[in-house]
Amino acid sequence: MSRLCKQCETSIDHKRKDAIYCTKVCKKAYAHSQNYQDPAFVEANRARGTKWRVDNPGRGFADTERWHRENPDRSAAIKGKEAAIRRGGSVAESYILDLCVPFYTESRRLTREAGIRYDVDHVIPLSKGGLHCQSNLQVLTQRENVQKGNKHDV
Ligand SMILES: [Zn+2]
Repeated sequence: MSRLCKQCETSIDHKRKDAIYCTKVCKKAYAHSQNYQDPAFVEANRARGTKWRVDNPGRGFADTERWHRENPDRSAAIKGKEAAIRRGGSVAESYILDLCVPFYTESRRLTREAGIRYDVDHVIPLSKGGLHCQSNLQVLTQRENVQKGNKHDV
């Protein structure tokens, strides 16, 4: 009969006779799972979380979510920057969030009022080495953006 790791139940026959786990990772995972079986640990952990939220107002996940809801233009500007980075673009050293926000305010306003979608676009496309910053942003209709993409951004 083969000896099994207490956490993941793979064979530990090749390990020392007194081995209980296959790896340190499993040893840790087992201790972790045991902690959460212990109501005292769960309670202490919850109290620690509550204290952290009291000591760090505005820094929790729910606070961040609320901030994004209450600041939709700044939120859009921050998400626009993150999207540019995800698409492989670079952020200019001269980037200033406050100077980018008006583009997102304008695009959101036009979208609302015109009933068609406006985008914040890069004048020089990221794919052509354009940087993400206030001097390289413009507001276009989504349609213009797509057409521009067909012409230049390939
Ligand atoms: Zn294991």
